[in-house]
Amino acid sequence: MALCTHCPRASGSTTTTSHTSLPSPHLLPGRKRIDVVDPGQVASLAMDSLCRGVFAGNSQELSIRSCFPSLFQAEQSHRSVLLGLLLGAGKRPQPDSALIQKARAERWSQWSLRGGLETLPQALDAYLTSKGVTILRGQPACSLTLEAGGFWKVSLGDSSLEANHVISAVPAPVLSQLLPLKAAPLASTLATITAVSVAVVNLQYQGAQLPVQGFGHLVPSSEDPGVLGIVYDSVAFPEQDGSPPGLRVTVMLGGSWLHALEAGGQVLSQEVLGQLAQEAAATQLGLKEPPSRCLVHLHQNCIPQYTLGHWQKLEMVTRFLAAQKLPLTLAGASYEGVAVNDCIESGRQAAIHVLGADPNS
Ligand SMILES: Cc1cc2nc3c(=O)[nH]c(=O)nc-3n(C[C@H](O)[C@H](O)[C@H](O)COP(=O)(O)OP(=O)(O)OC[C@H]3O[C@@H](n4cnc5c(N)ncnc54)[C@H](O)[C@@H]3O)c2cc1C
Repeated sequence: MALCTHCPRASGSTTTTSHTSLPSPHLLPGRKRIDVVDPGQVASLAMDSLCRGVFAGNSQELSIRSCFPSLFQAEQSHRSVLLGLLLGAGKRPQPDSALIQKARAERWSQWSLRGGLETLPQALDAYLTSKGVTILRGQPACSLTLEAGGFWKVSLGDSSLEANHVISAVPAPVLSQLLPLKAAPLASTLATITAVSVAVVNLQYQGAQLPVQGFGHLVPSSEDPGVLGIVYDSVAFPEQDGSPPGLRVTVMLGGSWLHALEAGGQVLSQEVLGQLAQEAAATQLGLKEPPSRCLVHLHQNCIPQYTLGHWQKLEMVTRFLAAQKLPLTLAGASYEGVAVNDCIESGRQAAIHVLGADPNS
């Protein structure tokens, strides 16, 4: 996975060349031929693709206010998304660190890690363990009970532990299943923050070339309901192309199309998903030769959907936690941004909330 540093909440600037065919041009009489397109239709194609590219979601159901707050702020303050963005509206206060300063100075638009993103949790694990932190693996939390004295009892199946504060980074519907009866209103709100599934197909081709350069492209639902987009991994990070190097692309499929299939009891095999991805790479990028490698992973319920009214759900959650004085803090993709950068920041904010200070200060 390559990470777009602006993606998706800062400016909606996922660099994409959309495979969008614009509506047929009209001819204006007596003038040079110019292409006239309905701006509303262009905007709706752009939003459709953006919602699919970032949230694997349906633009008719998602909340722009919650999914793309900078676009919402820009429109609110200048009555125009473009004007607002140009004038710098919607920029939230940014966290600061030496790494962030370096990223700004070098104008990073994406980042990744040499050994792949899994090296990040591996490094965190090694660091925390070296500081004496115990990490429990393979023991999912089964329930949270509030004990006398305001302690949580976290049940782990065969064992349990006591905690004076819980930071939950599990998906909201999972947390809703763990909470005690006292927190039923909170649980029922969290249960409504559902997620969609995405199939990720990594393809590698020997001796092939892309017809265009860029981060990738998004595919509007009107062109293909199944394929969300294709990321050109080799363009951004050729150093990860392996030896001998081969062109790498990632095809993402899923969203509401997959949801509808699953709801109808259909299960798409890995072979079918791989085949669909290869067909998309062939028709959209001209990669017609069979790939040398094809990896298929279906991630169930992996991207939370911030549907209309999401911000009201978050307000309810905040009010409830404060009113009940529950020693519980929420973090992770279910609340205020699904991008990895957002999730990291939500973890930092959770730590600040619990410790009462920035852990770095
Ligand atoms: C296909 C795909 C591509 C993406 N591409 C990008 C990208 O290019 N750039 C970007 O910025 N973002 C991208 N994202 C989004 C981003 O990766 C995720 O939103 C983010 O990693 C979510 O992090 P999280 O910690 O909130 O959730 P998760 O990583 O899902 O972590 C939740 C954890 O909770 C654990 N858990 C669940 N139940 C329990 C339980 N009962 N007890 C204990 N633990 C439990 C799970 O095992 C899991 O480890 C992508 C997401 C997907 C699915």
